[in-house]
Amino acid sequence: MTHPVAYVLDRIAPQDVKDRFLPEITRTDGKTAVCGTWATERHSGSDVGASVTKAEKQADGSHRLTGHNWFTSAFGFKKFLAIKTARPGGAPAGSKGLALYLVPSHTDASWSDANEYAITHLKRKLGTKGLPTVEVTLNGTQAYEIAPQGEGLKAMMTALTCSRVHNSMAAAGVMHRAYMEAMCWASHRETFGKKLIERPMVQKRLLELNTEWAAGTALAFAAATGFDASARAAKPDPAQEAWMRLVTALAKFKTAEQAVWCAQKALELTGGNGYTEDYPTARQFRDAMVLPVWEGPEQIQALELMRMIAAPGAAGGKLFTEKMQQVHDSLPAELAQERAALVMLQGMIGRGLIELAKKPQQAELVADEFLHKMADILAYTLLVEDAAWRLAHENDAAGILTARHFNELRFGGRLQSPVFAKSALHAHFNEAASGAAIAPESAGIPPGPAPEAKAGPGARAREEPKPAAPPPSPPAA
Ligand SMILES: Cc1cc2nc3c(=O)[nH]c(=O)nc-3n(C[C@H](O)[C@H](O)[C@H](O)COP(=O)(O)OP(=O)(O)OC[C@H]3O[C@@H](n4cnc5c(N)ncnc54)[C@H](O)[C@@H]3O)c2cc1C
Repeated sequence: MTHPVAYVLDRIAPQDVKDRFLPEITRTDGKTAVCGTWATERHSGSDVGASVTKAEKQADGSHRLTGHNWFTSAFGFKKFLAIKTARPGGAPAGSKGLALYLVPSHTDASWSDANEYAITHLKRKLGTKGLPTVEVTLNGTQAYEIAPQGEGLKAMMTALTCSRVHNSMAAAGVMHRAYMEAMCWASHRETFGKKLIERPMVQKRLLELNTEWAAGTALAFAAATGFDASARAAKPDPAQEAWMRLVTALAKFKTAEQAVWCAQKALELTGGNGYTEDYPTARQFRDAMVLPVWEGPEQIQALELMRMIAAPGAAGGKLFTEKMQQVHDSLPAELAQERAALVMLQGMIGRGLIELAKKPQQAELVADEFLHKMADILAYTLLVEDAAWRLAHENDAAGILTARHFNELRFGGRLQSPVFAKSALHAHFNEAASGAAIAPESAGIPPGPAPEAKAGPGARAREEPKPAAPPPSPPAA
């Protein structure tokens, strides 16, 4: 939450507030202020506009806040700063009456005089126990206005969009850890005379974890690059903003779901031990469970998506299909299968968007279905985009096989091929499991074009496929 607060201060805060507090967040001498976002009141987590905390202006221009915050994480640090939505005296109800304030833990320049507030409860939580979450009563708390009345919710949403990117990245990290835990366990655990990693069903599960991680990472980075592009833009660009919000909603929702699934499956694969506190999988599963909840649960992301694709004049749907088209058009001839899949998916989502445009009043009914489908389609599109690059520049087909595997998992592609055969990725289990390159010829894919033909910004010389690192134990053929 420190990054979102720094971001909002840098972008929105009045110069004097920025000058005083931003250096406290960006300093690197070990005395950095840790930050929190305080939006959730007793009855207003998703519905921030229902906040009841009041702000009263003081003679010196600062404010005093009276109210509470129901969920307050990143608390207990010696020195912290929080942003809090509150309602100035006389402001109307709802989000139009909200302003945004900065609450410092101390009121003086030397950070020695504690601000006025009381911690009334320490939450007992399912997970994230290393991060205290408290209820805070604000009883005349000193605060500084960052965004005036009417702009408070928008400013808080700017911070939340940033933390949703972080949520997505954290989720991708959880997925990789889950994969590593499952892989390590399966590599040495023997049942019925064989290592788990030699069993086809275990190999399939490990590959599923690995593919979810690849897809989740692609989504998380799409959100991060979308956010960066918007943050670095010299002047606001509505299309860039729309893309950033669209991708962030999809990534926040999907990666959180994937992380929970991966953490659960890693726990299961570790058997009874995985359920105990003696192994990391139990804690990891508990911690992952918060990812779908905080920073806006599924339905809140679905509503955000609808603002981007179903509201009058919304450009999100067009931007989405354009991205698919751009990836499709950039694919080489040898990836005909991926081109066909993108055409099919683009047709499917395109028809959905046309129907949605005809019935915008039904948006709330179908918002979650669009969220699920568009997140999967975007993940697939991004996997294909990356796979084409790896094929062209590294002569590596691992990305293509991963994209095909994801297609099979999500869109039932496998039903079109013999069900009793291993998937193409499974046939290369050793390479896929160890992260090694896969020679295109061995996967039935013509090698990518020569590197000079593809040389461009950021291009690397084509590398010969690296040999697979020896797996911990040779799996069964
Ligand atoms: C461990 C932890 C730490 C947290 N730390 C912080 C913090 O530091 N700062 C902070 O401000 N908050 C914090 N939160 C709060 C968190 O962001 C909220 O709990 C979360 O955003 C959900 O809001 P809510 O609890 O009000 O749930 P609700 O809004 O009551 O939502 C309940 C369910 O209803 C759904 N829903 C809500 N509105 C609609 C709608 N219009 N249509 C369809 N479905 C809907 C939601 O998607 C959800 O599934 C924390 C939460 C947890 C669990």
